[in-house]
Amino acid sequence: MTNEVAFEVCVLPGDGIGVEVTEAALEVLRAVEAKVGGFRLQLTNHPAGAFCHRDTGEALPAATQAAADRADAILLGAMGQPEIRNADGTEIAPQLDLRFRYGLYAGVRPCRALSGGPLALRHPRAAEIDFVLIRESTEGLFASRGKGELIDDREARDTQVITRATSERLFDFAFGLAERRKTQGRPGKVTLVDKANVFRSFAFFRKVFDERAARFPGIAAERLYVDACALDLVRRPWEFDVLVTENMFGDILSDLAAGLVGGMGFAASADIGDANAVFQPAHGTAPDIAGQGKANPTAALLSAAMMLDWLAERKNVAAAAQAARLIEKAVGAVFAGGRARPFDAGGRDGTRAMTDAVLAELGRG
Ligand code: ATP
Repeated sequence: MTNEVAFEVCVLPGDGIGVEVTEAALEVLRAVEAKVGGFRLQLTNHPAGAFCHRDTGEALPAATQAAADRADAILLGAMGQPEIRNADGTEIAPQLDLRFRYGLYAGVRPCRALSGGPLALRHPRAAEIDFVLIRESTEGLFASRGKGELIDDREARDTQVITRATSERLFDFAFGLAERRKTQGRPGKVTLVDKANVFRSFAFFRKVFDERAARFPGIAAERLYVDACALDLVRRPWEFDVLVTENMFGDILSDLAAGLVGGMGFAASADIGDANAVFQPAHGTAPDIAGQGKANPTAALLSAAMMLDWLAERKNVAAAAQAARLIEKAVGAVFAGGRARPFDAGGRDGTRAMTDAVLAELGRG
């Protein structure tokens, strides 16, 4: 069909279970593309990751970078392998390089209870959990990545960086998201998570937050210290709407958040900048289960839906957003209907069976 919009997607399956869950995401994307129509996905796999580094000397080869530069979006599995490391002992993590390369400052980590899905808390309100944690992803403590100092084997230093420019964009993104969610019935609230009572960098972060909050009078702004936030994420997670925080705090709290609603196999994510975005499950390569067909593809499928939503909004293609809803609905129906249950939720269904269950729901809908 000539009037269909084509999206070029650079697919980086990576290593370990990244490869397995990406294959599941591609199957489901092809299914919704065929079902909804109105847009086309050009999905092309490219090499990158720890094994690529071992085999070619490069974790992100130039041809892969060029493909990522050209693409409308990047879909990533997971990268890294414990025994394959850089000379300084750090893990191979080209996914972090992509965040810096494209200025992907907003790490978007939705945390939503799936009806029929696993919940860590027995509280009756646990099923209401529905918030988005936004992790700044280009600075904070991670700005020191590759630049830390070791002084005479006596002292080591890593320096945190918070800039006004990135913080303003980050907070505007968070408030914009809260505004959109408010139109869908969410409370319209942004919670800043920091440690402004101790560190100058965080006091500055909070000052910029307060300035930007004033521009969004329809959205409530609250501030929490990170330690109190960790407590409240366990004690009253259903009261959060949008949380926004520094890179390292976000790294930690987003895993805690994932733990509330089933663990890493359920944790979708997107790293979003002004012009580019990478969509990937928040989990790593899970070498302990890689190659066994046991990986839960839910996080990868929900990340693929986030990609469709982002493309839909940027290119004004409603059909892509419709396809995203179909994926979410099918995944939800699999859990709600007890049609399949992955190993990490106490079930017996591997990647293939979970993917087939989602494809069957799509066929039914
Ligand atoms: P990274 O440091 O890159 O986050 P990691 O290996 O420390 O990676 P993850 O790979 O994120 O940690 O996951 C930790 C454990 O959770 C895995 O070892 C695995 O047992 C489990 N896990 C993670 N993702 C999944 C998944 N999609 N399905 C099933 N189990 C998973």
